[in-house]
Amino acid sequence: MTNIFGLNLTELTSLITDLNLPKFRAKQIIEWLYQKHATSFNEMTNLSKDLREKLAQEFTIERAKSCDRLDSSDGKTTKFLLEFGDGIGVETVLMRQPYGNSICVSSQAGCNMGCSFCASTLHGMARNLSTGEILAQAMFIQELLNQTGEQINNIVIMGSGEPMLNYDNVLNFIRLVHEPYCLNLGYRNITISTSGIVPGINKLAQENLPITLSISLHAPNNELRTELMPINKRYPIEEVIKAAVNYANTTKRRITYEYILIDKYNDNMTEAVELCKLLKNQLALANVNLIPINPVKERNYNRPSLARIKAFAKYLNDHHLTATIRQEMGTDIQAACGQLRNKHLAK
Ligand code: SF4
Repeated sequence: MTNIFGLNLTELTSLITDLNLPKFRAKQIIEWLYQKHATSFNEMTNLSKDLREKLAQEFTIERAKSCDRLDSSDGKTTKFLLEFGDGIGVETVLMRQPYGNSICVSSQAGCNMGCSFCASTLHGMARNLSTGEILAQAMFIQELLNQTGEQINNIVIMGSGEPMLNYDNVLNFIRLVHEPYCLNLGYRNITISTSGIVPGINKLAQENLPITLSISLHAPNNELRTELMPINKRYPIEEVIKAAVNYANTTKRRITYEYILIDKYNDNMTEAVELCKLLKNQLALANVNLIPINPVKERNYNRPSLARIKAFAKYLNDHHLTATIRQEMGTDIQAACGQLRNKHLAK
């Protein structure tokens, strides 16, 4: 049976007309799926009983179920462990920020990129997520927000997984949440984060959608970056920056460079100087997001002191490179990606 959760209107219309049903039925069904959050055909009360039974014989609606949840002590961040039909679990996070509700979704179950500071990669990657499974994460949270009359304002694809290695499903998800019959979210409110898969960045630039691109940089030179992120051997830092500049020039969107600060490792003044040199030709198009590391107990990386964090940020800003220190949310609930999932895998 075909799962219809995650299809767009064109795809659903094609399935519906194959059953010799009129096109307008697809529109009705899609409203039930994405606006009225139906979980079964039986709930679709503007369809006849016969039709509901027929649809249930042909199609399924596969959603995600929650198997764990952690709330931060300030009540602003909630992390969910969501499970799909085959028992695979992924993490999804809701962050209530002053400028709206942001959610962070996963694109793969686990990750095989091997970044040394990341808990998501410790058990490798189980599989890619389908468009419907990425959407199911967003819809799970939207349903919670419906209870208080709120909505999702921003989506970041920054949970577990490398989105560029699940390109088609991720792009279909982005296009789908943009649709008025789905979440009606502007492309500018969507961020895709990559470890630096150059062909993926170039392909995304050609789509010419004003999505925010976020590059996990984390070091200003190849030696240090390769230690932190093995993917740097395949796509060295200069190539990643070149692709990012091309993306910024094509889409007219600023690039966010994510930089995890690890105590006395990549947070010295030497690295601050190198970082400014690396990005000196794109000061107007770059924004550096400094993220004090959430220590991962399996690794020996420590969080820098506040004084070191501020000094690093000040150097960049003094040299006309916009740098912000990420507002810390949910540290007390292990907000670093992968840690909740790993707890359950260990069980
Ligand atoms: S940081 Fe991102 S790309 Fe790197 S291992 Fe973690 S999930 Fe994968």
